[in-house]
Amino acid sequence: MSESDTAIFDTSHVLARRASGMEEAPIMRMSRLAREQRAAGRDIVSFTLGEPDFDTPEVIRQAACAALEAGYTHYPPLPGHGEVRAAIAEKLKAENGLNYGAEGIVVSGGAKQSLANTMFALLDPGDEVILVAPFWSAYLPVIELAGGVPVFVQSSAENGFLPRAEDIVSAITARSKLLLINSPCNPSGAVWPMALLEKVAALVRAHPRLMVLSDEIYEYIVHEQHEHHSIGALPGMLERTITVNGFSKGFAMTGWRLGYAAAIPEIARALAKIQGSFTAGVNAFAQQAIPTALHDARARAAVRQMQQRYAARRALMLELLGDLPGVRLNAPAGTFYMLPDFSGLLANAQDGLPRDDVALAEWLLMEHGVATVPGSAFGAAGCLRLSFATSDAQIREGCARLAAGVQALA
Ligand code: PLP
Repeated sequence: MSESDTAIFDTSHVLARRASGMEEAPIMRMSRLAREQRAAGRDIVSFTLGEPDFDTPEVIRQAACAALEAGYTHYPPLPGHGEVRAAIAEKLKAENGLNYGAEGIVVSGGAKQSLANTMFALLDPGDEVILVAPFWSAYLPVIELAGGVPVFVQSSAENGFLPRAEDIVSAITARSKLLLINSPCNPSGAVWPMALLEKVAALVRAHPRLMVLSDEIYEYIVHEQHEHHSIGALPGMLERTITVNGFSKGFAMTGWRLGYAAAIPEIARALAKIQGSFTAGVNAFAQQAIPTALHDARARAAVRQMQQRYAARRALMLELLGDLPGVRLNAPAGTFYMLPDFSGLLANAQDGLPRDDVALAEWLLMEHGVATVPGSAFGAAGCLRLSFATSDAQIREGCARLAAGVQALA
């Protein structure tokens, strides 16, 4: 088919509404605009991508190569190889106090597939999913594809972007099916302390139809005195929680597409059934590297080193952006994101200058050569998400450009 043939073909007649109605994700849009600017010869500093800038630790890469050479080239069992599920179950028990057992583990193509499996396995049309704003924007399309309805609980910068238990209670209705917890949180970096998890567990126990989906993908990227806790480990919560995790962030394995869900066996079987309808078991030789990633001392040392590098970059970014007039900076407790609030500045912006975060992100890219993601994509209007999964040099240069932009706005 020639290009002119494709140009006259009107896809509106063939695309389903669920596809044609989907908008380009704001993170993708800003990354694309940054790429286009670079392709046009401009020097752009990008704080957009939620991806470690490190390579996967060598010992993990070697484990996959060895598995490939050893003949792991056939369809794996749908929920994962037995020894891989056992290695994940052992990690969850030892590190998180979660006693799901190997039969409760489903290995998936990234944490994202486990999130989708959960939505499709648990939601009937009209069932409500409670999420705390700011939230990772990619949750919304999959909730909607599964027929669910998102219900938002707002958190505020003043409260460190942690929700109040009473606001979660107010959001619960007869249709509530899932409470989505993402701690450490993309984009706010909030890490839910034990006291909050205990309160939330108590209210979940009081609502027998409500389940928790706990997305713990940033568990290894926590800073200073903060600690990650799994809500499923609290009394009576194992059977009420689907715990989702993966290897993309903590292990720098984004391109491997490896994640998993853990649940009681009956729910795990439902997750596997859904996964089997869309894809199948996960790449056989890639999943064979999971036991090494989780249990080899060299892999774990590499994970700790990466965490230390993120902590140093976080400190650098906080120092560089600390004195920006009119900008409220929150020190993230976890992740490699920061979510500064520019709303004070935007409210007083002069004519011709940006008045909201979407305009601000575009203006900063075009006028100052720094790419960020508008907070309204995450339910955080007035904020910008900055990823510090990039080099010190880029952080210094990008923060200088941000500061120049803020000076021009103030
Ligand atoms: N959950 C959150 C909160 C994320 O930020 C991301 C990726 O950005 C994922 C899940 C998806 O991870 P994976 O690469 O394992 O699919």
